[in-house]
Amino acid sequence: MSALPPPILPYGRHAIDEDDIEAVRSVLCGDWLTTGPTVRRFETALAERTGAAHAVSCANGTAALHLACLALDLKPGEAVIVPAITFVATANAARLCGAEVVFADVDPESGLMEAAHLSAAIAEAERRGMKPRIAFPVHLAGQCADMAAIAKVARAHGLKVVEDACHAIGTVECHMDGSEIPVGACAHSDMTVFSFHPVKTIAAGEGGAVTTESAELAERLRRLRGHGIVRDETMFEDRVEAFEQAVVNPWYYEMVELGLNYRLSDINCALALSQMQKLDRFVVIRRALAALYDAHLARFAPILQRTRRRAGSMPAWHLYTVLIDFEAAGITRGQLMRDLEADGIRTQVHYIPVPRQPYYRKLYGDIAMPGADAYYRRTLSLPLYVGMTGQDVERVTQSLERLLLPRAAERRRAAP
Ligand SMILES: *Cc1c(COP(=O)(O)O)cnc(C)c1O
Repeated sequence: MSALPPPILPYGRHAIDEDDIEAVRSVLCGDWLTTGPTVRRFETALAERTGAAHAVSCANGTAALHLACLALDLKPGEAVIVPAITFVATANAARLCGAEVVFADVDPESGLMEAAHLSAAIAEAERRGMKPRIAFPVHLAGQCADMAAIAKVARAHGLKVVEDACHAIGTVECHMDGSEIPVGACAHSDMTVFSFHPVKTIAAGEGGAVTTESAELAERLRRLRGHGIVRDETMFEDRVEAFEQAVVNPWYYEMVELGLNYRLSDINCALALSQMQKLDRFVVIRRALAALYDAHLARFAPILQRTRRRAGSMPAWHLYTVLIDFEAAGITRGQLMRDLEADGIRTQVHYIPVPRQPYYRKLYGDIAMPGADAYYRRTLSLPLYVGMTGQDVERVTQSLERLLLPRAAERRRAAP
C-alpha cells in the first residue's frame, strides 16, 4: 500500500466551523440579506473589540481605504504617504481620489515604515510641489508600526493618519505607561482600516471596516458607503425645509454628495460576527504557531532569520515571514518555493514593493527604496493559519532544513 502524499499546507487559510455555517444559515432564513440588523451587530462588536467609538463596515478592505480617503476629502494635487511594502490597494485608494502617492521606504528587517521614513517622504512630497495630506502606516504581518512616533511626525506637518490594519485585527500596542491598546482604537490615528478577506485573521467572505473616534467621520463614511444619500430626518435638523419634508413624507431622501455602494451584507456580517467571537482563540493559536517557528528556526541563522520584532507590539500574527539570504543559501527564491511546493508546502511573497509595479513606475519612475528592496529580496511567508498544527510547523522546518542547510554548508566549504 503506497503512502498518501502529505496534505497540502497553504500559506494562509480561513477556519470555518459549524457555528459559522449556522450563523449564515439563520440570516439566509431571515428577513434581510443585505443591510439589516446583523450589519449593526457586527459593527457594534467590532467597535467594542477595538475600543473605538464607531465602526463602519463596508464591502472589503480596499473599499475601506477608499472611503477613508473620501471622508478626508482627499483631492487631486494632494499626496498620500504609503509604505513601499504593502498590498497595492493601500496606494490605489489615493489614486482613486486622483491624489498622488509618495512612497516611504521601510525598515529592511521588519518591513515597517518608521517615523524617519515618513519624515523623508513628507519632505519629498513638498519638494515635488504636492501637499501631503494623509499618512497610511501599514501594520505588516500583524506587527504594529510605531504609531506614537508616526503620529507625532504626521501631526507636526498637518497630516491625517489612517492605519492600514488589514493584517492586524487582534494586535495590541503596549504603551510606555504600561497601558495596552488594541489596534483599531485609533489612539494615534483618525481612522483604522480592516479587511475580512478569508486569508486574513477573521473571514467575512469579502468584507472590510473603518473604525474611528470621530462621530463626524463615521457619519460621513456611512453616507459615502450608501450613494451619498441621507434619509434620517435628524440629519436635516439644520435645514428646516428638508426636515419638514422628511417628517411629513416617509419616502423622502436626499443625495447630498457623490457616493458609492460599498455596503457589506447581513450574510457577510453574520460570518464576520461569528468569527469575531473566536478572535481571541485565533490569536492565541497564531501566536503559539509563530513561537514554535521561532524555536525551530533559531538555528538557521544567519541564512534564515525571522523579521525584526518591534518592542511595544503584541502582534496577532497574520503572516509568519522569514528573511532568507538566498545568495548564501545557494538557492533562488523561485527554486525554494517550487521545492517546498513539491513537499506540499505553499509559501508566498509579501510584497513586491508597490513603487516597482509597472503602473507606479510609469507614474513616478524608478525611485530609490533601499530598505524596501532589501526586505523584498529576502522575504518569504511560511504557512500560518488556525487549522495548522505543531506537527505541520515541524514539517515546514524539516523541509527548509533539507533544502537550505546542506547547500549553505556546501557553499561555505567551497568558498576560499
Ligand atoms: C488585504 C489587504 C488590503 C485589501 O483588503 P481587501 O479586503 O482584499 O480589499 C489592503 N491592505 C492590506 C495591507 C491588505 O493585506
